Amino acid sequence: MKTSPKIQSLTTPSPLPDHPALELRTDSRFGRGVFTTQDIPKDTHLAGFYGEFSEAATPQDLPGDAAIYALQCGPTLWRDGDPHTLGRYINHSCEPNCGIRGLYDVVAMRDIKAGEQLFWHYGMTDRQQIYMTADVCKCGSKHCQQRFVPYAELSESQKAAWAGYCSSWLTAAESPL
Ligand SMILES: [Zn+2]
Repeated sequence: MKTSPKIQSLTTPSPLPDHPALELRTDSRFGRGVFTTQDIPKDTHLAGFYGEFSEAATPQDLPGDAAIYALQCGPTLWRDGDPHTLGRYINHSCEPNCGIRGLYDVVAMRDIKAGEQLFWHYGMTDRQQIYMTADVCKCGSKHCQQRFVPYAELSESQKAAWAGYCSSWLTAAESPL
């Protein structure tokens, strides 16, 4: 797509590579997921979304794979992960162990043990709607809300627990767009 100045201003100049201790594995619940091969401390950078931007009114209007994989980074703006990196394959959970730093970076929200699957909560980036091929969340967490709750519908306690781990476009006093 044509890159507008608005989008260029948001492009990370030097995207970080995936953390070397991440591995894409098959998973019985989700088909596939991203797992760790070593212990990872809280706040470590894990992966990112440095692929193509798409503009759309709603996530359903996004082209191709972006509807499934891209994260929201502005009111009408989404960004996919590079398909050769792992960020876009990290699954959603209602009890995430990862969060979002800035607009595009996935970081550990707590210490993560070797062998754990990585999860973030898609409401950490998507404001009004989360597009999923399934209607019901099956993350298996004891706190599962049975649906994919967007940022606008998170509880105050969720927002407090995830402070510092939700996209800056949602939390900044002045949105970047
Ligand atoms: Zn759930």
